[in-house]
Amino acid sequence: MKILAVLYSGGSAAKEEPRLLGTVENELGLGEWLESQGHEYFVTSDKEGASSVFQKHVVDAEILITTPFHPAYLTGDLIEKAKNLKLCVTAGVGSDHIDLNAAIDRKIQVLEVSGSNVTSVAEHVVMSILLLVRNFVPAHEMIERGDWNVAQIARNAFDLEGKVVGTIGAGRIGYRVLQRLKPFDCKELLYYDYAPLPKDAADAVGARRIQDLKEFVSKCDVVTVNVPLYEATRGLVNAELLGHFKRGAWLVNTARGAICDRDAVTNAVKSGQLNGYSGDVWNVQPAPGDHPWRTMKNPLGGGNGMVPHYSGTTLNAQNRYANGVKQIIDNYLNGRPQDPVNIIVGIGKYETKAYGQR
Ligand code: NAD
Repeated sequence: MKILAVLYSGGSAAKEEPRLLGTVENELGLGEWLESQGHEYFVTSDKEGASSVFQKHVVDAEILITTPFHPAYLTGDLIEKAKNLKLCVTAGVGSDHIDLNAAIDRKIQVLEVSGSNVTSVAEHVVMSILLLVRNFVPAHEMIERGDWNVAQIARNAFDLEGKVVGTIGAGRIGYRVLQRLKPFDCKELLYYDYAPLPKDAADAVGARRIQDLKEFVSKCDVVTVNVPLYEATRGLVNAELLGHFKRGAWLVNTARGAICDRDAVTNAVKSGQLNGYSGDVWNVQPAPGDHPWRTMKNPLGGGNGMVPHYSGTTLNAQNRYANGVKQIIDNYLNGRPQDPVNIIVGIGKYETKAYGQR
C-alpha cells in the first residue's frame, strides 16, 4: 500500500531534536513501522504546483497524511485525480485544507487526532491575550534596542482583570481558554457557539452565551476565535463585524487565518479600531514575506503578536498527534473501527457536528 505524508521541513533542528516528530526528517516516527509491513511510505514538504511531490504521488496513494502546520491543499480537482485515495489523516486538529465536501462525494474518510493539541493552543491563546493587553511586544523590542521609556509602554498597558473576554467557539480549545481565564477575575466570560455548553460546564467557568454575533463582539474587550474554518466561518470576522467591536478591543485568532479578513484586520489595527491582533494562523501558509499581518501596528506602534503557525505543534503536542496518527493507520490496516471522536468525514457524510449545523 502507498502512504504519502506531507509534513514541514525540520532541517538541522529536526536532526538535533528527534522529538520534532512532525517533520519530514522524523516522519512522525512511522517509517520503520510501515516499511516493515511492506508498505511504501513517501514523506515530503514539497506541496505546491502540479510537479510537486505531493501532487505527483497523491494520484495513486491510498492514505494521505497531512498537517495543518504546512497544509497540503487537497482540492476537489486533486481528489478527482486521486483514484486510490481512501483515507486522509490530519496530524493535528483542523482539516480545512481538504475539500471535505469533495471527499464526501468520493467516499474518502477524513480523520484528525482530536484533542491532541487543544491544551497547547489554549495556553497560546492565554499568552497572546496577555501580551496584547499588557503591551508586551513593544516593551521587549524597546529593551533589545537599548532604550528605556516606561511611559511610552505604560500608556497602552492594561490589566486583564475586569475585562470582558469572549470566545467565538466554545469547543475543546474555546472551553479550555475559558477555564484558564477564570482565575484572572475578568468582568465577564462570554461565548458564541451554536452548540450551547452543558449547564454544569458553563457554570464551572461562569460563562454566558450570547446568541447574536454582533451583540457578542460589541460586549467584549477581548475576542478569541476558536471555530473550524469552513463555508460558514470563512471571512466571518470582516470589516462589517469589526465595526461592531468596541473601539480598541483586542482580537486573538489561533483557529485559522482565513476566518479573519486579511485587509479588514490590517485596517482595523492601523486605525486603532483594534488595539491589537495576535495569532499564529495565516490565510496562506507559509505566509508570504510581505503579508501585512507581519508588520501591521496600532497608532501607538504596538498591537502585533503574530508568530508562525506553531501553537499546536509543541514537542508535547507532536508526541500526542504522532501516536494518534499511528493508531488511526493501525486501525485502518487491521480493519478495526476508528475512535468516533476522530472522524470528521466518515464514508459519504460528516460525522462531526463542529463543521456546521447540517
Ligand atoms: P472543536 O470541534 O472541539 O470545537 C469547535 C467549536 O466551534 C464547536 O463547539 C462548534 O459548535 C463551534 N462552531 C463551529 N462552527 C461554528 C459557527 N459557525 N458559529 C459558532 N460556533 C461554531 O474544535 P477544537 O479542537 O476546539 O479546534 C477548533 C479549531 O482550532 C480547529 O478546527 C482548528 O482549525 C483550530 N486549531 C488550531 C491549532 C493551531 O495550532 N493554531 C491547533 C488545533 C486546532
